[in-house]
Amino acid sequence: MVDEKEKIKCVRCSHVADDKDKYCIKCGAPLMNYCADTKRGKSKHHCGANNKRDAHYCSKCGHETIFKQRGLI
Ligand SMILES: [Zn+2]
Ligand SMILES: [Zn+2]
Repeated sequence: MVDEKEKIKCVRCSHVADDKDKYCIKCGAPLMNYCADTKRGKSKHHCGANNKRDAHYCSKCGHETIFKQRGLI
């Protein structure tokens, strides 16, 4: 009975996004609060964990999240 599909709302402009969207089509803000430690190529360990939308730091590795890094929260 519980609808597990939560509507994704943009943290910056509150636009309701599509499930598949990764970025807000209205303002370009990221919709998922990934760990910012996702350096491709150079860094061997990139975390990239998907964190809660109000998380300032990654619950897995303690690195800043992209929401925090971009000043969205
Ligand atoms: Zn937006
Ligand atoms: Zn992390």
